[in-house]
Amino acid sequence: MRTKIVAGNWKMNKTPSEAAALVEGIKALVKDVTTVEIVVCPPFTDLKDAAAACAGSNVALGAQNVAWAESGAFTGEISAAMLKDLGVTYVIIGHSERRQYFGETDATVNSRLKAALAAGLTPIVCVGEKLEEREAGQMETVIVKQVKDGFADLSAEEIEKTVIAYEPVWAIGTGKTATPVQAQEVHALIRRTLAEIANGEVAGKVRIQYGGSMKPANAKELMDQPDIDGGLIGGAALKADSFADIIKAAL
Ligand code: PEP
Repeated sequence: MRTKIVAGNWKMNKTPSEAAALVEGIKALVKDVTTVEIVVCPPFTDLKDAAAACAGSNVALGAQNVAWAESGAFTGEISAAMLKDLGVTYVIIGHSERRQYFGETDATVNSRLKAALAAGLTPIVCVGEKLEEREAGQMETVIVKQVKDGFADLSAEEIEKTVIAYEPVWAIGTGKTATPVQAQEVHALIRRTLAEIANGEVAGKVRIQYGGSMKPANAKELMDQPDIDGGLIGGAALKADSFADIIKAAL
């Protein structure tokens, strides 16, 4: 059995003091949850305060990106060691907004993924097709390519340490959710692809989250699907009660 993992992607929202308050609110609502992994991913500038608020609780801390280099002349980037030193244990890599607005490609995802793994961070690697790709019947090709190229040159042991988030781009922040059947189809495809590039045992262990307008009202039916192992939550993660309700739907 895979432990479900629910992570909040706060995107560019919340100041440091707001972040600490949100973590406190989440902690109070989920303090009795022991069987779901809970992660919050605030902006870099919030991490120190969020780490202090998360300390000693069942809420783990993630970042929204990580540099592929260890240090040096990479203005604006943050290294894996810097994140680890702050108490970060997870990192989102290749979110569709990074791909859309900041030129991320499967190659940059691959480099960042290797840096995260080398530092012992757990990567949450995002994949997902655009609406026009789905409508053109290209969903399968796009997803398989993102997984194969994003995970290129990784050993089966490294792949086993990752979490994948399937986030159809057309469902992110739009209020349109993939149906449980649509999402399960893609999750099963991702798991088959992992079996191909690693092996069946590893494919069976990797957690695959669904992301895209997940909210308390639809979380349970999505996470009840056999290959959906949690959620990566945007908008609904910015309020303690809706995020906690999604976590409880994973129980
Ligand atoms: C996301 O950005 O990872 C996401 C899933 O956003 P939302 O839940 O707002 O669609």
